[in-house]
Amino acid sequence: MRMSQTFVKSSKTLSGEGDSLNYQLLTRAGFVDQLMAGVYTYLPLGLRVLRKIEQVVREEMDALGAEEVLMPMLHPKEPWVKTGGWDSIDVLFKIKSRTGNDYALGQSEEEVVAPLVLSRAPSYKQYPIKVYQIHWKFRDELRAKSGIMRGREFFMKDMYSFHTTQEDFDAFYQQAKEAYLRIFKRLGLTAKVTEASGGAFSEKISYEFEVLTDAGEDVIYYCEKCDFCVEDEIAKVKPGETCPRCGKSELKEGKSAEVGNVFDLGQKYGKAFDMGFVDEHDQKQFPVVGCYGIGISRVMGVIVEKYADEKGIVWPESAAPFAVQVVRLGADEAVTRAADKLYDELTKAGVEVLYDDRDVSAGAKFAEADMIGVPLRLTVSKRTLAEESVEWKRRDSDETKLVKLGEVTAEL
Ligand code: ATP
Ligand code: MG
Repeated sequence: MRMSQTFVKSSKTLSGEGDSLNYQLLTRAGFVDQLMAGVYTYLPLGLRVLRKIEQVVREEMDALGAEEVLMPMLHPKEPWVKTGGWDSIDVLFKIKSRTGNDYALGQSEEEVVAPLVLSRAPSYKQYPIKVYQIHWKFRDELRAKSGIMRGREFFMKDMYSFHTTQEDFDAFYQQAKEAYLRIFKRLGLTAKVTEASGGAFSEKISYEFEVLTDAGEDVIYYCEKCDFCVEDEIAKVKPGETCPRCGKSELKEGKSAEVGNVFDLGQKYGKAFDMGFVDEHDQKQFPVVGCYGIGISRVMGVIVEKYADEKGIVWPESAAPFAVQVVRLGADEAVTRAADKLYDELTKAGVEVLYDDRDVSAGAKFAEADMIGVPLRLTVSKRTLAEESVEWKRRDSDETKLVKLGEVTAEL
């Protein structure tokens, strides 16, 4: 992408409410644009990041054997009444049409996926069934002040699994937990797993995946020597106490953001829709259902919060909008030719390149490159060209080196 040709410019000023770091950095660097509190446009750079995170999540869901679908965001009222959600879920957006019909905007999709799967899979032979989608969710959140970490419209991966037995479910639940830990690790995040009660969804145990960050809205107590971690609200322990699991360290307290969770929904949804499957003895049974969410847009915000420095964003490679930013300094003909050629060659080699081909000062270009946070910066200038080289600098390091123009692709 040539920076001279995108309509999105970075800006030094901010509009709208936004005290959080991710809001400020993402808005200033031109990744997102706020339409209103909790609702954002993802601009070309931001959309690329969202797609990167989405792809990591998709690969791990596919590896679990889950099938991807795309379900509607606009829902009829009836299934929400059946499960009680119409009256009990306070964040549910409700819409009245001009013909007097009521609709809901999806805040989660059990009400759509349960009837879908249960009607299409009448026999135990089709189980277990695992479906997921990556799509927008709507929630009437009271406070949307954490930038893209708490949206009223946000991007989520939601998976649902349907099993004939509790044992089969339990085994899959563990696999899903492992897949989640892999996803967050691939995205450069260390997620701590808390065990929490299922809240509105069920009385059963659920796992929440929490990442330590001051921008988070949760508080966890955790051990640094083992994986013990609980949310403060449910906790029978206190910070400073010896870890009840390993006994080797005192529990710490930290603010954290929930990036994902997995719930055991039991037979609630099968029963709510009075739909089951037929077992090997021709008896009707209700499936055990699990749901598994990851807040993709929240993960993007958390990565910004965790990796930013005083100059801007520092993307891990797995989530970066581009792998390389080529910076051309000056408009000297030979420099322009060399920089254009480098951009073309890298692009042809399949490298995703952001090319700063604008006629602005070196200082402005470097400051903006730091703000955008592409992992590798390659600068072409008269000085580097005298050595038939580019200046190679990683965003997460201050070191620079010269690399011969002909060796850049190989070095990458
Ligand atoms: P929270 O306690 O933060 O409101 P939740 O328990 O309501 O989260 P779920 O309903 O389980 O969350 O949704 C699954 C995932 O979606 C969460 O783990 C989180 O990462 C993300 N998420 C939830 N609400 C929002 C929101 N308003 N904006 C962005 N992401 C969200
Ligand atoms: Mg919530």
